Amino acid sequence: MVAPALNESMLKRAQERHLLDIRIHQLRDYAADKHRTTDDVPYGGGPGMVMKPDPIFAAVEKIRQERGAVRIIIPSPQGNLFNQTMAGTFSKEERSLIFICGHYEGMDARVKEGMPAEEVSIGDYILTGGELAAMVMIDASARLIPGVLGEPASLEEESFSSSLLEYPHYTRPVEFRGLRVPEILLSGNHQAIRTWRKQQALLNTLRKRPDLLANASLTEDEKEWVDQQQCDAIKSHS
Ligand code: SAM
Repeated sequence: MVAPALNESMLKRAQERHLLDIRIHQLRDYAADKHRTTDDVPYGGGPGMVMKPDPIFAAVEKIRQERGAVRIIIPSPQGNLFNQTMAGTFSKEERSLIFICGHYEGMDARVKEGMPAEEVSIGDYILTGGELAAMVMIDASARLIPGVLGEPASLEEESFSSSLLEYPHYTRPVEFRGLRVPEILLSGNHQAIRTWRKQQALLNTLRKRPDLLANASLTEDEKEWVDQQQCDAIKSHS
């Protein structure tokens, strides 16, 4: 499941260019019994199976020996919510990141108790396993490593980079099914385009994710402009 997704497109190229090194470990390879068991029934009864601690510890210890310092992440719906800021810190992390992917009911609680690990959630819903969550975090973090994306400038403007959503994009044709590209974008006036884009980013954020504005660093003019938009919106509703 993991290898095909992580060995495609940008992530594939990043690995070929040695900007990223992803290694996938099969927990069964670290199970001591002849059936290579990685799960067992829960103590105290109840539905589902629980991932055994011993193969997980064996895998982490082996990886530590090979890779040196590690930062251990446990994808879990009970963790802190993953966001763009966390992706940024992962992308700058000097240590190797280990994502321990749970399945079934999750893993024996002694994994978290017995090693320095952070639980991280990708959203308030339940997936069948940690792999998709790990892949989301790897993808979002890897694209922030310098050199992975063709155009680093595009990172500076995109959504969440400054606690704002991005402005809308348009490409050819100028008119499509009666809908025209905003005239300002055809004007060639770069300063006016920059101002328009900033205002559109503010408007997008105000309409879709007003909660983000609390953390955005805005100039006095921008704050005034946002206040004005809010007043106008209130007036048009009353
Ligand atoms: N019984 C667990 C609970 O209620 O907290 C849920 C287990 S879930 C079915 C199986 C595994 O999927 C988890 O151990 C975790 O690795 C992963 N997982 C599920 N939802 C996730 C989420 N929102 N974010 C990150 N990982 C998640």
